Amino acid sequence: MLDKFNREVDYLRISVTDLCNLRCFYCMHKDGVSKLTHESIMSPERIKEIVYEASKLGIKKVRITGGEPLVRKGIIEIISYIHEIPMIKEICLTTNGTLLKEFAYKLKEAGVNRLNISLDTLKEDKYNKITRLGKLSDALEGIKIAKDLDFKIKINTVLIGGFNDDEILDFVKFAKDNELTLRFIELMPIGVSKELDKQSFISNQIVLDRCKELTFDHNDGVSDVYRIGNSNGYIGLISPLSKSFCKKCSRLRLTADGKLRPCLHSSLSLDTNGLVGEKLKEIIKEAILLKPKEHHLNIGSDSDKNMNEIGG
Ligand code: SAM
Ligand code: SF4
Repeated sequence: MLDKFNREVDYLRISVTDLCNLRCFYCMHKDGVSKLTHESIMSPERIKEIVYEASKLGIKKVRITGGEPLVRKGIIEIISYIHEIPMIKEICLTTNGTLLKEFAYKLKEAGVNRLNISLDTLKEDKYNKITRLGKLSDALEGIKIAKDLDFKIKINTVLIGGFNDDEILDFVKFAKDNELTLRFIELMPIGVSKELDKQSFISNQIVLDRCKELTFDHNDGVSDVYRIGNSNGYIGLISPLSKSFCKKCSRLRLTADGKLRPCLHSSLSLDTNGLVGEKLKEIIKEAILLKPKEHHLNIGSDSDKNMNEIGG
């Protein structure tokens, strides 16, 4: 359905857990404790019920995120249930990739079409530093397995000034060599990342300044996509700060405890708990109509949560 600003909202992003097996310093507190009680987390059946009502309003695409969706108990069941809904044409999943060795095949069988895999450095010591717990080899192995299983893959790289901007050309080479699309995402001042130094927040323009091999190919709604030379590798630039995509925003978000969030950068949330059928559909409609015209990230996110709690 259309929101108040004539935007078609057809994309639901569901955070299935706020827990994660990693603790990226710009996303999550180092203790990583869940703020949600076990009882407040939506069951797979409840998620299906909400997606079904949302699909009646025109939601066609679902993204499963978190936290790390692959640590959520019942993740394959959740995806299989969503896959049963006829109006849902695409199921995507965002993951840090470290558990794909165990899950990639099951995800494919359950109906996932696309994977976005996060990778913020190509250096082992830095990977451990940024994620506080992870091993680069696990993430790289996950990417390889997903590629071998023919998933449509995009790599997500959050660009952090003074941390990984020295690796921009290495990332471009990685995308070229592996014939992948790698998207640089501008670091957003939300939750724990609000505490980071000003120098950490840099514009994606730096990628274009540093890499002369890129030629503009197309815009896919959230990112400007550039081809790397004549290769099959592409670089996407997602620039929520320097080039906001609010005008084309088609998203609605659902948190693991059943709260609808009309915008990532607003603390506005609507509770779906206890609602079924027509009443549930009505609150989803209300959330779509409450989508703000735009965010004001340049003066800071209004969100009261960390990224792992809302779902990036
Ligand atoms: N655990 C999964 C992962 O890392 O892909 C899914 C959840 S994570 C919150 C989703 C995406 O949000 C990741 O690509 C992550 O890098 C990104 N993210 C987290 N905090 C961010 C921030 N402050 N600014 C920009 N992107 C952020
Ligand atoms: Fe976990 Fe993803 Fe957040 Fe990293 S970005 S802490 S992997 S939820």
